[in-house]
Amino acid sequence: MRPVVIAHRGACGYLPEHTLPAKALAYAMGADYLEQDVVATRDDALVVLHDIHIDRVTDVAIQYPGRNRADGRYYVRDFDLEELKRLHVHERKGPDGSPIYPDRYQDTGEIFRIQTFAEELEFVRSLEESNGRRVGIYPEIKRPEWHRGDGVDITPDFLKTLADYGYQSHSDRVYVQCFDAQELRRIRNEMGCRMKLIQLIAEDSWQESSTRYAALRTQEGLDRLARTVDGIGPWLPRAYRLRKRDGKIFASGLVQRAHKAGLAVHPYTFRVDELPDGFTSFDALLAFFVDELAVDGLFTDFPDRALQFLRRISG
Ligand code: CA
Repeated sequence: MRPVVIAHRGACGYLPEHTLPAKALAYAMGADYLEQDVVATRDDALVVLHDIHIDRVTDVAIQYPGRNRADGRYYVRDFDLEELKRLHVHERKGPDGSPIYPDRYQDTGEIFRIQTFAEELEFVRSLEESNGRRVGIYPEIKRPEWHRGDGVDITPDFLKTLADYGYQSHSDRVYVQCFDAQELRRIRNEMGCRMKLIQLIAEDSWQESSTRYAALRTQEGLDRLARTVDGIGPWLPRAYRLRKRDGKIFASGLVQRAHKAGLAVHPYTFRVDELPDGFTSFDALLAFFVDELAVDGLFTDFPDRALQFLRRISG
């Protein structure tokens, strides 16, 4: 079976991440899954945004000057939904205000807005009805520990919203993803979640959660994970090794170990405009991960390009 194509934050190679137009474009391109990252507002609404901060993808600093925390950042959690709805979303910028991906959509018009998790699921349902093609969703519980520390447990509402839209069983077109291993154990074992679960794997140095990722990548760690989750989402550099001497690429063994444990592997992130070390083209990158490593899914900002590649190799 060919790997599933997951539209990472929508078709965000072409339109600002996590906006509904980016999701509609990914849907029209034929992506198998549309990703949602979920964070909480001050009034405990769940919205679709990649980070707990909003200063890199919106005009929050212009509309609400001085509402930043001591670290200078503007937090989703410090704004009510109604306030966030007034913000304009744009292509991601770096700390100095320059675009992270200069070749992507840079128009700063006032078209793009923030939507709630429920609004996005409603949108997906309507797209399916008007177009006649079913599509999966791939929501992520963002920073559950951090949210609890800030006074909200986002997971129960996250699961309830999914259930409201009919997502609850293992065969439903949904993968629930999280970087926090403890949270995944909680939703599987204590909250009775039957949906497919994906353990995202970060680097310990990223301080994404208190999960220790190095231990998860061992055979023992993966075997243990397989009791709770259906698959893993490692970042690309952990799946291969680059031999500096001649530039040759080798499997790191991670994908093999995960498959041995019975886990699916959905690495992130396949980007045309940001190739990982050692790869000279997007197609060469895909060829290695699909043909050599036989991964089961691809998180990509460019779902059209991934699908074109998969169609080509299937003849
Ligand atoms: Ca994500």
